[in-house]
This record gives sequence, structure tokens and C-alpha cells, in this order.
Amino acid sequence: MRTYLFFALLFLVSCKSNTPLVAAKHDYPNPVDTTTKNIQLQKRQVFETQGLQASNDFPAARLNAFSQENDSTYIAAIWPENFPINPSPWYAFKLWAKEAKEIYLKLQYSNGAQHRYHPKLSLDGETWKLLDTTAIRTNTDQMSATLKLQVSTDTLWLAAQEIQDHRRVGEWAKKMSATKNVTLSNAGKSAQGRALYHLNITENTSTNKPTVLIISRQHPPEVTGFLCMKAFVETIINEGATNGFLNKYRVMVYPLMNPDGVDLGHYRHNTGGVDLNRDWSQYHQPEIKQVTNHMVRETTQHNNEVLLGLDFHSTYRDVYYTPDESVTRKIPNFKNAWLDQIKVALNIEDINERPGKISRPTSSGWFNKQFGATGITYEIGDDTPRDFIKTKGVESARAMMKILLEE
Ligand SMILES: [Zn+2]
Repeated sequence: MRTYLFFALLFLVSCKSNTPLVAAKHDYPNPVDTTTKNIQLQKRQVFETQGLQASNDFPAARLNAFSQENDSTYIAAIWPENFPINPSPWYAFKLWAKEAKEIYLKLQYSNGAQHRYHPKLSLDGETWKLLDTTAIRTNTDQMSATLKLQVSTDTLWLAAQEIQDHRRVGEWAKKMSATKNVTLSNAGKSAQGRALYHLNITENTSTNKPTVLIISRQHPPEVTGFLCMKAFVETIINEGATNGFLNKYRVMVYPLMNPDGVDLGHYRHNTGGVDLNRDWSQYHQPEIKQVTNHMVRETTQHNNEVLLGLDFHSTYRDVYYTPDESVTRKIPNFKNAWLDQIKVALNIEDINERPGKISRPTSSGWFNKQFGATGITYEIGDDTPRDFIKTKGVESARAMMKILLEE
């Protein structure tokens, strides 16, 4: 009897070890080096000048140096975490003065980066408004912008985009998990120990259900993509039980892929100085390694067929990067049907579809190579109006659920 048990156990163990529970490595003709590089950390501090103070001492802040040029003009120097890097010069800092006054503030970028993000202002770090266009002058060198600001003894927050740091994303994820059908857990930890949040969304069991994977914020400043992802996920949670979607499907969400980069106010990289959306083949960076392994392990153990992977980003305007028609995928008709429905729902003439860069080791290619799924990079413009972003998130979630329910 004991011998029988021993062999039964051995059989079970060997079965398990044959199941791939980690992501496979994928070769690319032109590999990208994603091994860890050095980064330059900002010194967190309060900068003091005559009559005006500036602080970078909070999560998501970026202000590398601060000086006074003359009575009314100040210079805020903004540098990247390392170089070379994508031109996405993020900035965020607080300002206050001994007395109320009007000042000129020059945002001065380094390494050839050009002014990109329209400044947002806040008095509490939660509610943001755009700085009036008439108060912004992009200088002829393009590498600096001068802002006209009213400062006072009250703290004024100035940032490239609304601040959505690790704490705020965690609060949102926690709020989502208070609703039925949603479970919050961690898929692992970033290099600096921040939780890699994971929301599991389904009704009753996760097992034996076709699955949709959703990720966001590989690139820290890409807040508009994150806002669209939020509306998208909230719609699945709000409507997916009533329409039957969550009874049939499982949705796995990773809302903040690069929490260190976000909290350190990075332009693009993680603390390994690497663009995480180039590491989806060799997994040198802990964030990508753990999330891909979590996806593979979870979907293998629950016998899920992954049909679709969506990765939310931001760029200069709204774009969908989609797989080429020649790429084999499990639901070949999904992409066209989905984009058509979004176009009709939003009454937009040009959906702006572009071919995905399949030669690069990005998430969208990985969803296809790893699972045979349709991988789509969902880009929102830096300046796309926030109410439109929300509507787009809602309508594209509705269209996805409708099409997948007809599968
Ligand atoms: Zn991006």
C-alpha cells in the first residue's frame, strides 16, 4: 500500500512538473538589452530661494534643481532617471511663497527633451485643472517652457499629469475589491518592494473560463491610458454580472506595472533603468518576470484559455496598435468587430488603428506568443479630454463584452 502511495505521489509530482508554470522565453531577431542599468535618484528636498520654496518630497515628484534667475523668474530643472530615454519629461512639485505674488517659472529640460505635458495645477493633489494656455510659453529651443503662475502661502501642486501614485492606485484597487466578483491580491513586488497589484474579476469560480488580461502603467507618466483602463475595468465590474459576461469569462487586471518608476517620478523606466515594455522576452526585470509568471501560473492552474490581452498606454494622440492580419490568433475576428463598435458608439470618424510593432519584445506580442491571444496596445493621447477618456473606456468595455458573449 505504501509503495502504491509513493508511486501515486510520484506520478502527481511529475505531472505537475510537466505543466509550464513560468513564462517561456521568446527569441526576437533584434533582441533588446533589458539588463539592469544605473539610474540617478533625485534627492528629496525642499528647495529654498528668496521668497519661494519648492518641494519634491512626495511620491511621483520630479524636480532636480531649483533656482532664482531674477526678482520674478525661477528655474525648475527636470532631468531623466537615465539616458537614452523616450522623450517624456515628467515633472511634479509643490510651490509656496511667503506672500502672494505672480511669478514666471521656467521648466528646463535636459538631454534634448522637449516640453511635452500641459501643466496641471492642484491645491490638494486630488483635484486638478489645466493651466490656462495663455500662461504657457514654449521657448524657441523647445527644450523649456515658461509658465506664469500665481503663488501664495497655500501649497500649489504643479504636475505634468494628474498624480496617480502607488498609494492612490492601491486605494482604487481596494475600493474595487469591496464589490462582489472582485478579489485584490499581489502578483509580486517591485525592486523597491512595492506591491504589484492584481485584481481578479469573475463570478463564482475562475476555473475553466476563457480569460482577458489587462495591464497598465508600464510607463510612469502615462496617466491618460491608466484613466481609460480604470473606466474600462469599472464597466466590467458594474455591468459584467448583469449581462452574463463574468459568469462566462475571467478578467485579470494589473493596474500598475511599474510602481517604483511612478513613485520616483520617472520619465519611462523602472529602477533597473529599463523600458519594461521591451522586457517581454527575457524577463530581466523583476516586475515583468513576476507578472508574466503570475499570468502563466494562474491561467494554467485554472485551465483558462487566454483570448485577449490589452495594454493601456499614452502617447501624443489616441491610437490602437493592433496585430497584423497574418498573425494567427484564437479570435481572429475580434479586433475588427471591436474597433467598429467603438467607432459607432463614440461617433468618431477615424479610430486611428496602426500596425503593432511585432518585431519588438512588447506585451502585445507576448500575449500572442505565449497564449495565442489577440494583443492590443491601447493608447490614449496626453491631452485627450478626461470626460472623453472615460466614455471611451466605458464604451470599449461594453463592446468587448458584447462581442465575447457572442463567441
Ligand atoms: Zn507607453
